[in-house]
Amino acid sequence: MICIPFDSFGAPEYDGNVMDIFNSLSRKKEEFKPLFDEKINMFVCGPTVYDSSHIGHARTYVFFDVAVKFLRHAGYTVFYLQNVTDIDDKVIIRARELGQNPLFLSRHYAREYFQDMNELKISSVSKYAPATKYIPHIIVQIKRLVQKGYVYTISEDGLYFDIKKFSEYGKLSGRTAAEAEDAVSRIDDSIKKRNRGDFCVWKFEKPGEPSWASPWGIGRPGWHIEDTAISEHFFGPQYDIHGGGIDLKFPHHESEIAQQEAASGRKPFVKYWMHTGHLQVTGTKMSKSLKNFITIRDLLKKYSAESFRLLVLQNHYRSPLNFTNGSIRAAEEGIKRIAECIQRLRKITNHKSQIINKFRVPNSKYSNDLREKFCEAMNDDFDTPKVIAEIFRFITDTNKRIDAGELSKKDAREILVSLKRIDSVLGIIPIIKQKKIPEVIKKLSEERERCRKEKNWTNADAIRQEIEQKGYSVKDGPDGPLVQKK
Ligand code: AMP
Repeated sequence: MICIPFDSFGAPEYDGNVMDIFNSLSRKKEEFKPLFDEKINMFVCGPTVYDSSHIGHARTYVFFDVAVKFLRHAGYTVFYLQNVTDIDDKVIIRARELGQNPLFLSRHYAREYFQDMNELKISSVSKYAPATKYIPHIIVQIKRLVQKGYVYTISEDGLYFDIKKFSEYGKLSGRTAAEAEDAVSRIDDSIKKRNRGDFCVWKFEKPGEPSWASPWGIGRPGWHIEDTAISEHFFGPQYDIHGGGIDLKFPHHESEIAQQEAASGRKPFVKYWMHTGHLQVTGTKMSKSLKNFITIRDLLKKYSAESFRLLVLQNHYRSPLNFTNGSIRAAEEGIKRIAECIQRLRKITNHKSQIINKFRVPNSKYSNDLREKFCEAMNDDFDTPKVIAEIFRFITDTNKRIDAGELSKKDAREILVSLKRIDSVLGIIPIIKQKKIPEVIKKLSEERERCRKEKNWTNADAIRQEIEQKGYSVKDGPDGPLVQKK
């Protein structure tokens, strides 16, 4: 099943098209069929809140926001769950550097993160689950792993998962040892481990660290167990989609599979695994020491959320994304083009419906055509670059239709409705507040129109210059001049 051009009331229609998703587990595109019914359970790894969130986070979360919004438009009910890692080695180390309480620090950055997501128009998450609120659930899951013999104790260190006891360890990533792209900084090291890849599920207390009581002694959870305990609490032992950045495929996601399938004995833990490519800044990994680390806050001081979303969507989610000043500025220009076209459409006052025109696709079908192309591309593993290319082709064509005076008010309204529907998934159209044009500028524009009608081009040009000097621009169209603040 799937999607859908939207019908005229905004509800999804089903046209029998199939949706394909690239599944990292099978390493190929597969027809998407939810595990149980039309209700999809989806989990995406949330941030580790030890610092301000950066544009790499934003790339991953903007993409999943669009994916979830599209699934909902396709008629699915999606429960989108995201954990927040608010206790972890990284949090503790940073808090120590700053002389702060680790839990105060993580709470502060979690709050910042929610604000950042809001500013980026990310509104699809059903539930954010901070790990420290789920310690009892984590303990219950570890208990089951202990009872089944998957976990052993290293004294004065913690409880470790023995990867040799889970024969399928490596089935997601195709390996059992770390490589450069992995989140290697968080691999638990101990010379007493049975196997190099064993990971800690419960870390015994060290002075100054936040800790909780457990049957094995006071301590705190390991990183991987937070996610499976939280997802099991909300979804049970199996669910539909798990997402995250490519750096988390190994060892984080590999270890999640081992833990959950070992604890429940049910397979698959997750039916579809989705991974986003990494964002780099001018071709290099972001890092504070290289001074190319861009926080979401810094980005949004200079550029709009819509521009960043457009930049993300112009790149396929599985490919790396190279962020440069040039690429974000080009996206900003793209957003202006869309906004300008929308303003022109809003200005159309011609009431005649012109069904026959010189364009290949008649106006009556024209906006439906875009919606069909949108669905077709999104059904193909969320091919957003294709969607964006279609939108810009559509904008060019629409501008030509406006220039030729071929659009009636009704046509314009239909186009605007289509764009709005598509944008409820993409989030790239800015709220366009028509700034009030001062009386003096309006008068100048009317005077210029009079000169143009009298073919007094010299005066018309002089008035245009005067308008521009006062900070406004004039664009002529078949419906008269469009005056805007520059
Ligand atoms: P972290 O805060 O490092 O635990 O990361 C939270 C999420 O953001 C994970 O899904 C990461 O894979 C993703 N992420 C972190 N850095 C980047 C990046 N540079 N590009 C894309 N995704 C990233």
